[in-house]
Amino acid sequence: MSPEAHLFASWLIAAGTTRNQRDLRLVTLAGIAPDLDGLGIVADGLNALAGRETFFYHDYHHYLLHWVFGAVAVAGFLALFARERWRVALLALIVFHLHLLCDLAGSRGPSPVDLWPIHYLGPFSREPVWLWTGQWQLDGWQNRVIGVCLLAAVLWIGAGRGETVVGVFSRRLDAIVAPVLVRWRAASSRVLSQTTVRDMPHARK
Ligand SMILES: [Zn+2]
Repeated sequence: MSPEAHLFASWLIAAGTTRNQRDLRLVTLAGIAPDLDGLGIVADGLNALAGRETFFYHDYHHYLLHWVFGAVAVAGFLALFARERWRVALLALIVFHLHLLCDLAGSRGPSPVDLWPIHYLGPFSREPVWLWTGQWQLDGWQNRVIGVCLLAAVLWIGAGRGETVVGVFSRRLDAIVAPVLVRWRAASSRVLSQTTVRDMPHARK
């Protein structure tokens, strides 16, 4: 699934289960951490510009961190910075595995046989542990629908909390974004309540 879908899903879980901003941020980061093994795409791009051909993205994405030891390492590392360490470690493991599950469901390439397996025992074994032949395409309609629903939930819940997913990366930027969303939610709620009152039987007389 796309990185932003992982980000939104992790933030929604973190927002509902953590009790302070720092832990919320850490749990959200755990949900996108597996895709750090896809950063080889940057090296591949730079090498291509220099006239060299490398396949770091192909060789290591969905392999270096999409595994059980990656999950333990990421959860343990992030918990070191947490206020509630055990809670963050557990939640980090949960969102990390949700990421793997989402990749298993919807990360296929353009061809029907271009499936992404989960190398759950990597890097000690290249054997795919999980592979779902019904896996849908990365840019398929399923991922688009899920992405739009997650974005809507992130915006609405963020507006209700007065802090958004932007705050995971920059609190300063979130101080600009969040108030806009809060005003939007308040205006939407006013419109909804006025519409409801107008539609009530006594209001139509
Ligand atoms: Zn992934």
